[in-house]
Amino acid sequence: MTTPEATEADALKQAILDEYPRLTPDARFRFRCHSGLDCFNRCCADVNIVLTPYDVVRLRRRLSLGSTEFMIEHTVRPFTKEQKIPVLLLKMRDDAGKTCPFVTAQGCGVYDDRPWACRMYPVGVASAHTRSRAGEEFYFILQEDHCHGHGGDTEWSIAQWMDDQGVADYTAFGELFKEVNLHPKLLDGPPLDPRKMDLYFMACYDLDRFRRFVFESRFLETFELAAPHVEQLRTDDEALLRFGMEWLRFALFAEPSIKVKPTVLEARRQALEARAALERRSPR
Ligand code: SF4
Ligand code: SF4
Repeated sequence: MTTPEATEADALKQAILDEYPRLTPDARFRFRCHSGLDCFNRCCADVNIVLTPYDVVRLRRRLSLGSTEFMIEHTVRPFTKEQKIPVLLLKMRDDAGKTCPFVTAQGCGVYDDRPWACRMYPVGVASAHTRSRAGEEFYFILQEDHCHGHGGDTEWSIAQWMDDQGVADYTAFGELFKEVNLHPKLLDGPPLDPRKMDLYFMACYDLDRFRRFVFESRFLETFELAAPHVEQLRTDDEALLRFGMEWLRFALFAEPSIKVKPTVLEARRQALEARAALERRSPR
């Protein structure tokens, strides 16, 4: 089913690629957001907030929710037939204004852990990726009628704005995420089948489930991981997310991003040989 959110997001993306000036980090703009403006909180309603995996780590910790609980309560997964890259959106309230569940009269109720997209606004990042490769990234400034923070005498470069909004950790995790969600095999290949799509959402966003998968299946008998790393993965969500990105490159794209144990490889080789021998002996 194509959702209205997905159609709107696709239309905005196309307009940005076709019409917006492509800016670099030293491009300057004037902007000041504060509670005295008549538009205060207006940007926290009727908006599509794309959640990154690190956004989910920060928000669910902030809200003391399990990752599965957070996914059910606070996210939606829109998609279109043409869409190759799975997307997760913050679920807005089911009220007339479609307001963010975290907005309060005083502003953002999860400010220190607000998502990357909220930190960056009104700055955006886009990439005109085509078949076979992710395109050059560029920045743009969203000028929306409802936002009255533009202009005035507070001037920023885009780099200064990002520094002020504390996006460094988000950017570092974003780079790891891009190695998965902008992978040429994902951009050029067929859409992920339902099983792979489930693995993708589990390792990117549902870290409690991914942790159970790592520790309660034959995972650790299959892959080579140093003991201190295994212990870290038991409790450290950031470490588990980094590892999840590496594992997805192995599981979805057959990259050697993590190592299978030699004993497992040898057992597989022997099983394949035995099957081939059996097939050779079977009457046609
Ligand atoms: S998370 Fe905070 S800043 Fe972002 S839309 Fe919600 S209330 Fe606004
Ligand atoms: S200035 Fe823009 S970002 Fe700030 S509250 Fe108003 S609409 Fe939101």
